[in-house]
Amino acid sequence: MSISQKLLQKYAELIVRTGANVQPGQVVQLAVSVEQHDFAALVMEECYKAGAKKVNVDWIFDIQSRLNYLYAEQETLATVLPWEEEKMKQMVEDLPVRIFISSEDPDAMNGVDPQKLSAVMQRRAAVMKPYRNAVDGKHQWVIAAYPSVKWAKKCFPEASDAEAVDQLWEAILRTVRVQEDNDPVVAWKAHTDFIEKKAAWLNEQGFSALRYKSANGTDFTVDLIPGAKWEGAGATNSVNGAFYIPNMPTEEIFTSPIAGKCEGTLVAVKPLSWNSQLIEDFSITFEHGKAVSCRAAKGQELLERMIHMDEGASMLGEVALVPKESPVNQCGFLFYETLFDENACCHCALGMGFKEVLPDGDDLTMEQAQEMGINDSIIHVDFMIGADDLSIDGVRPDGTTEPVFRNGTWA
Ligand code: ZN
Repeated sequence: MSISQKLLQKYAELIVRTGANVQPGQVVQLAVSVEQHDFAALVMEECYKAGAKKVNVDWIFDIQSRLNYLYAEQETLATVLPWEEEKMKQMVEDLPVRIFISSEDPDAMNGVDPQKLSAVMQRRAAVMKPYRNAVDGKHQWVIAAYPSVKWAKKCFPEASDAEAVDQLWEAILRTVRVQEDNDPVVAWKAHTDFIEKKAAWLNEQGFSALRYKSANGTDFTVDLIPGAKWEGAGATNSVNGAFYIPNMPTEEIFTSPIAGKCEGTLVAVKPLSWNSQLIEDFSITFEHGKAVSCRAAKGQELLERMIHMDEGASMLGEVALVPKESPVNQCGFLFYETLFDENACCHCALGMGFKEVLPDGDDLTMEQAQEMGINDSIIHVDFMIGADDLSIDGVRPDGTTEPVFRNGTWA
């Protein structure tokens, strides 16, 4: 592998200092694949240098999950054990900084019964959800990526293992703005400033709806929550005021629309990888805010199952704007990883919305947020609709309109 130790060090620092922004005295919960133990050590040390009180590691092992799903009973897997729940309770108490290093093999769950997979996920997520809600907005977290051989080979099947990993590294470092001769912290400051400027403009406009149109068949209107904010790049931990960047890379400016208020059809422009399986060439049609039909050249059944995971799974939780010049899009290949693929172009997400976009949203319960229009669900699945010719108009409450996007980028 040809990536230099210097670049790895820069990347680890960026994740800990700019991404998670670990503060002195904080507990850190690091989730990382067993294969990336060397990088895990770099990240751990960086956390301690930033003043972390304790760094705990959750080791991820793709093969373990796969074997469990192949051999263990659904009921066994779906049961959340008391110690697992205790761990969540501890998390609510400690409010640890959470760092996820993603390097998943996109095909890890091939051959596993998708019904079993979603049933287990559904049951476990339902038990874990109150704890997730309890820490929402009250801790810093970041997801960043590290290429595994299997992931790299999925993206570059023709290349040798080493070449594939190198190419994926190159793409990852480009999208997270880490180069041999730059200061990534400065590059990120300029990037987040640009995103914040655009978000501020959207907030000033006070649009009550967005209208999407593209030659591929996208013809869609979605209503926005009055007073809900457009957000991008960073977030602030409401407990200690620490600014952090949940996703690296990040290119999007997003908000949560009114659940149950959208009409029309959205046509996906990129395949969607869900539960390690692909849904391709698909579109979703909404009536009265709910997905009433969907069509997929591949993965039709999977897409239908996703939409029916629970009541909120058929409604939108997010609309996000990403110009087609995004470095993720410029890389020109599918990463098979939402962290990257959702930052390629404009997207929407089915499922859970973000209560933090509401005024004082962090202090609201999920029930209160729902009353104000935020969608609730156990899923949150992004799908890409940013065609190269996509145009989006903002509609103001008085009916006047303003171009927001033209030809896939800022108007
Ligand atoms: Zn998004």
